[in-house]
Amino acid sequence: MSDIRVGVLALQGAFIEHEKMLQQVGAQAVEVRLPQQLDGLDALIIPGGESTTIGKLAVDFGLLEPLREFARHKPVWGTCAGMILLARDIGRDQPLLGLMDITVNRNAFGRQVDSFETDLHVPALGLEPFHAVFIRAPLVTRVGDGVEVLARLEDGSIVAARQGHWLATAFHPELTDDPRFHRYFLQEVGNLVPVR
Ligand code: GLN
Repeated sequence: MSDIRVGVLALQGAFIEHEKMLQQVGAQAVEVRLPQQLDGLDALIIPGGESTTIGKLAVDFGLLEPLREFARHKPVWGTCAGMILLARDIGRDQPLLGLMDITVNRNAFGRQVDSFETDLHVPALGLEPFHAVFIRAPLVTRVGDGVEVLARLEDGSIVAARQGHWLATAFHPELTDDPRFHRYFLQEVGNLVPVR
């Protein structure tokens, strides 16, 4: 059993899929619903779902400040709604962690293009394209100086970014069977080894 313990915020949304992927890459997955469940974790994933619901539940469960405190030193990855929660600015008022220096536009693709899949070029993962699933996805519309863009759509829109030990993806790597993003998060963003 691996020593690496990765929390998955399990308030709402696609957290079980992240747990399965973490186990696949050799980490222990721990569901987080309460502040004390962050104790002893090496990293945390905030899943996709509905960012307003996740944010509201995080407030109700007294998690916002403990999550910010955890994220100060530990690697955190937000997918889709999780990316929204990590952002400093989303142009509207809802509970956020407000950590990454990015501006995010929620539901950026509108009703017509609710969900889609596409192959992304992600240099940090190697040459093979990454098949990305977008579901009522947000887009990054601005990145600050310390933020590295990891992937763009063909039209140039930013869909993956990293700021030090924080990672954000607008799509859902946990819904594919390609574990490269989970490995990248643990090994490169988190400096956590060994991983299968
Ligand atoms: N549209 C959702 C939101 O704004 C995010 C969708 C997702 O996480 N798949 O929170």
